[in-house]
Amino acid sequence: MAKQFDVVVIGAGPGGYIAAIRAAQLGQSVACIDAWSTVDGKPAPGGTCTNVGCIPSKALLQSSEHYEQANHHFAEHGIEIKGVELKLDTLVGRKDTVVKQNNDGILYLFKKNKITYFHGTGSFLAHVDGGWSIKVSGTVDEDLVAKHVIVATGSSPRALPGLPFDETQILSNDGALRIPAVPKKLGVIGAGVIGLELGSVWRRLGAEVTILEAMPEFLAVADQQVAKEAQKAFAKQGLAIHTGVKIGEVKTAAKSVTVPYTDASGAEQKLVVDRLIVSIGRVPNVSGLGVDTVGLKLDERGFIVVDDDCRTNLPNVWAVGDVVRGPMLAHKAEEEGVAVAERIAGQHGHVNFGTIPFVIYTSPEIAWVGKNEQQLKTEGRDYKAGSFPFMANGRARALGDTTGFVKILADAKTDEVLGVHIIGPQASELISEAVTIMEFRGAAEDIARICHAHPTLSEAMKEAALAVDKRTLNF
Ligand code: FAD
Repeated sequence: MAKQFDVVVIGAGPGGYIAAIRAAQLGQSVACIDAWSTVDGKPAPGGTCTNVGCIPSKALLQSSEHYEQANHHFAEHGIEIKGVELKLDTLVGRKDTVVKQNNDGILYLFKKNKITYFHGTGSFLAHVDGGWSIKVSGTVDEDLVAKHVIVATGSSPRALPGLPFDETQILSNDGALRIPAVPKKLGVIGAGVIGLELGSVWRRLGAEVTILEAMPEFLAVADQQVAKEAQKAFAKQGLAIHTGVKIGEVKTAAKSVTVPYTDASGAEQKLVVDRLIVSIGRVPNVSGLGVDTVGLKLDERGFIVVDDDCRTNLPNVWAVGDVVRGPMLAHKAEEEGVAVAERIAGQHGHVNFGTIPFVIYTSPEIAWVGKNEQQLKTEGRDYKAGSFPFMANGRARALGDTTGFVKILADAKTDEVLGVHIIGPQASELISEAVTIMEFRGAAEDIARICHAHPTLSEAMKEAALAVDKRTLNF
């Protein structure tokens, strides 16, 4: 007989597992189905984020940054290390341990919140009496009936046409996180967040990295002042980034990959590398879900169509995270998951899309929230800008990390903060203050009047707020 639940969540990435926990907290009976397995077939909840995304990439970024520091920066601190040696197996093994700790943590949270977890693929069968009939095909096959279904099936890497991922020479984010030996030459197609982070990891570990980007501008999504500063910093580190390129037909041979391309000036070029990371975007995961069986509506790009509240075209079927419109970010998926669980329980869940922070965990880190200068200009909005360089921040000097700045954009009349853009040390942490201020619709003057501890990097935020009214104290 089919097992009955108030809520069945399909997918245990950050959107799905968080939705399941919140629904359980609100008194619903909840099941969560997830297909992800370890290489030896064990359950590995956490989705892309935990298994091949946010968490392992940050583990590798941390380890590779230590290696870079030991090789190139410890000497400035009077610490001489002779014969720094890289043990790639240990470095990648540590990353795997971190991933497993997160998988186990989610299994523990499922137990703690009395969520029934099914390891397998979930698909819609039909609308039946009492809700939706869902089939689980996996370790054990099960039939479930749910009053509400939350689809949180995430996304997968997009391949170049005619060039499938083999994860040996042509790598997605998955293969790029477990290259068995540091490549001499590594190519990356796509200078987005994933390409820049993974390119940085392998550059720090010793690879010669070339990134090819089709867009004419570098980091077109970021504030252009930040993008320019980032491009300068990455070039100094030895990351070769070519924008405005047109990629030709990629050829693989036994030990090399050849990428012919036309550069921004129109000249024909050729990049020959040992391995190639393709990071040109991601596609929503909808196959195997039974979309056609029940008539779940998709848009022209294959994303599940939802309204502002994450309702699909089917009654009591919701969708959150990467499989729907909006930024492909773990915290966006989580916020939608919480909001949907609350709506199911009759509450008024809400996601403020205007205050979702964006972070790139390179060195320097890049983070922003709200509008950038290009957007404000296009909108014809009157604004004031204030910025403060980390060079003038005492803590940044003590850290030996003075690249970058904080820039605040505020409404010219009301002083409301419209956007904050940071490039520099700990930008990923500093951006939270900006998010909080914007969530409360605060003004630059509010930040300027808040007491910030000294010496901290966060003083750069206060000084940038003071700069909005041209009254910085330390610059
Ligand atoms: P996912 O995490 O993709 O999870 C979906 C789950 O559903 C998967 O486990 C999948 O196996 C399962 N599934 C799919 N179909 C079915 C089915 N039919 N039945 C059962 N299960 C199914 N975001 C950030 O915010 N910060 C970062 O630092 C960051 N770094 C990233 C680094 C990399 C290299 C990559 C690739 C991504 C990164 N992201 C980051 C993006 C982030 O991983 C995604 O936005 C996030 O994982 C989306 O969550 P989700 O729950 O929607 O989907």
